[in-house]
Amino acid sequence: MTAGTQLLFRDDAYLCRTQATVIAVEGNKIQLDRTPFYPTGGGQPGDRGTLTAEDGRVFTVIDTRKGEAPDSVLHLLAEDAAVPAVGTPVTAAIDWDYRHRLMRLHTCLHLLCAIVPGSVTGGQISDGKARLDFDVPGESLDKDDIAARLNALIAAGHAVETRWITDAELAAKPELVRTMSVKPPTGAGRIRLLDIVGVDLQPCGGTHIRNTAEIGPILVTKIENKGRQNRRINISFAG
Ligand SMILES: [Zn+2]
Repeated sequence: MTAGTQLLFRDDAYLCRTQATVIAVEGNKIQLDRTPFYPTGGGQPGDRGTLTAEDGRVFTVIDTRKGEAPDSVLHLLAEDAAVPAVGTPVTAAIDWDYRHRLMRLHTCLHLLCAIVPGSVTGGQISDGKARLDFDVPGESLDKDDIAARLNALIAAGHAVETRWITDAELAAKPELVRTMSVKPPTGAGRIRLLDIVGVDLQPCGGTHIRNTAEIGPILVTKIENKGRQNRRINISFAG
């Protein structure tokens, strides 16, 4: 399972489906030559969806994970599911409604980074809600204030863009890295930056919406103390 895959979600997060070919099968894990499926990473869950063969057989993808080789993506079928043979052409289609909700929340977490001082120590996105942990010593964070500022940034309709910089450029700007626990992968020569223009700029390999207005109204549901210097901010969709 060493084959690499063309990661279509990296350049187009709005790509819902594509034609692809099965290049490797190991147990219930399927690799394609190209894929719109995002594999679990950076706190964002892997995509779900379907691989449909030309003869009409539908293989349901229940999760997507990174393989061991760089740029390899494993499309997971159910344990006992039939699998397509290597060489099978398929239409690979993600569950777009699910992915879009994840993209909205993921982008919203970037806005949260811009509002809350302190390094990010962890985070998780799930369907409909998300959380980020911040290293904020002894400071009490105001839930209503954070919610008001977050919704103002959302409503302002800031453009969301990606661009690439080199490892050396990132090394020269360590302030771009907000996460203490997870450093962006270096060594590939280039790093992708997510730029919410005028609001937040940091390395990120996840999927995002194009404009903050697309997130929609958000609730800050609770702020928890998780250790002396750790505050967990939980958000969810308001509607
Ligand atoms: Zn991101």
